[in-house]
Amino acid sequence: MTLVSMKEMLLKAKKEKYAVGQYNINNLESAQAFLQAAEEERAPIILAASDRIVDYLGGFKTIVGMVKGLIEEMEILVPVALHLDHGMSVERCKKAIDAGFTSVMIDGSHYPIDENIAMTKQVVEYAHSRQVSVEAEVGTIGGIEDGLVGGIRYADPNDCLRIVKEAQIDALAPALGSVHGTYRGEPKLGFDQMREISELTGVPLVLHGGSGIPVYQIQKAIDLGHAKINVNTECIKAWTRAIRKVLADDKLVYEPKVIIAPAKEAMIEIVKRKMREFKTSNKV
Ligand SMILES: [Zn+2]
Repeated sequence: MTLVSMKEMLLKAKKEKYAVGQYNINNLESAQAFLQAAEEERAPIILAASDRIVDYLGGFKTIVGMVKGLIEEMEILVPVALHLDHGMSVERCKKAIDAGFTSVMIDGSHYPIDENIAMTKQVVEYAHSRQVSVEAEVGTIGGIEDGLVGGIRYADPNDCLRIVKEAQIDALAPALGSVHGTYRGEPKLGFDQMREISELTGVPLVLHGGSGIPVYQIQKAIDLGHAKINVNTECIKAWTRAIRKVLADDKLVYEPKVIIAPAKEAMIEIVKRKMREFKTSNKV
């Protein structure tokens, strides 16, 4: 199957009350793991590259080529969207689209709302004429974002409504207490604001920092309009744990395949578990 945008995927998920997971590519094996998990669970999936590591991954074209190649070689039949996570500028988003990404996030959340809307509008104009979906962010998600450590700033419902109406985005990530990286204690999501923003805007909502949020809160977030949940930290922690074990168990091992293969398996398990938690399994 060819890559699709996340527009239809998210509208269906919102309507049927489940969430599509976004899993961040950190190398070749992670992309393989995500696609294998999706196919085995018969779940739609969003593969993402965070803009801050796009160059590390070999650039936009390399990422597109890798994902398209894997879909063909692995005979993947479930819908797959390739998404730019936290796009740092209008130009970067356009570059991703030109290379073949089917979805982009423009992160103008660090700018005043008028600037955020203006940037997002430019991306939407370029993206929609090419059947590419666009996600925008309002407020500040806690933890490490684009390498910057920040506090949480809740999204203002009025700003959310403005960006949805004025920029015509396909999905909105309102900061509501979630954190990138590891949570200290139990996450405190703003469910009242979530309900208000969802009812006001009507668009599928995106939950960033989905790692480490208890299942009952995930379920509530889905009930209140979240159709996309981003997971990265849990996957990369499982990856690192598996590699540490291989290296600790065998001091003489040096072959990359032997070291990395168990890490790939660990990621497949995490993603399949997330798909069941988000109720994405068997939704194709
Ligand atoms: Zn994020």
